[in-house]
Amino acid sequence: MKIEKMTTQECRWILMRGPIGRLACSRDDQPYIVPIYFVYEPDHLYGFTTAGQKIEWMRTNPRVSVEVDEIANHFQWESVILTGQFHELPDLPSHAEERTHARKLLQQRSLWWDTAFAARRLKSDSDAILPIFYRIEIESMTGYRAVANAEEYAMTDASRPSQSTVN
Ligand SMILES: Cc1cc2nc3c(=O)[nH]c(=O)nc-3n(C[C@H](O)[C@H](O)[C@H](O)COP(=O)(O)OP(=O)(O)OC[C@H]3O[C@@H](n4cnc5c(N)ncnc54)[C@H](O)[C@@H]3O)c2cc1C
Repeated sequence: MKIEKMTTQECRWILMRGPIGRLACSRDDQPYIVPIYFVYEPDHLYGFTTAGQKIEWMRTNPRVSVEVDEIANHFQWESVILTGQFHELPDLPSHAEERTHARKLLQQRSLWWDTAFAARRLKSDSDAILPIFYRIEIESMTGYRAVANAEEYAMTDASRPSQSTVN
C-alpha cells in the first residue's frame, strides 16, 4: 500500500461529496469530537445544530478541525483534514441571507434536520428547539490517499467480478 498526498482540488472533491465529517473542538486543553453533516463551498463548510456542548465550546474557542474520509477498504481510502474558524450565523437581519443560503444547501443533505433534533430530544421533550446555523471558514487543508498494490487489490471486493458479469 502506498500513501499519496492529494491535491487541493482532490481534497475539494471529497468535501463536495461529504456528507459526514468529524468536527473537533477544544476547551481548556480538552478535545471533543462529534460526527456532523455538512455542506462544502470554497472555502468554507456550513453546518446546522442545536444548543449543546460543541456550540458552547466553539463559542469559547472558535478554532476547530474537521476530518472527512471515504474508506473503500483497508488498502484504499482517502482522508481530508482541515483546520478553520467557527462562525455562528445568528438569527439576525445581518445574517438572514447567509442563513437562507446555508439552509437551502443543508436541506439537500438527507437527515440533516432529523439528526440534530433527535440528538437534542435526548435532553428535552420540547419541540421548541432553537436552530443554530454555522460556517467553518477553512484555513488549511491536507489530504492523504492509500493506493493498493496489485497483491492487495486482488484481496479486495473491487477485484471480483460482479454477479451480473458472472451470469
Ligand atoms: C452520522 C451523524 C450525523 C450527525 N449530524 C449532525 C448534525 O448535522 N448536526 C448536529 O447537531 N448533530 C449531528 N449529529 C449528532 C451529533 O453527533 C451530536 O450527538 C449532537 O450534535 C449533540 O452534540 P452536542 O455537543 O451538542 O452534545 P450534548 O448534547 O451537549 O452532549 C452531551 C454529552 O453527550 C455525549 N455525546 C454527544 N453526542 C454524542 C455522540 N454523537 N456520540 C456519543 N456521545 C455523544 C458527549 O459525551 C457529550 O459530552 C450527527 C450524528 C451522526 C452519527
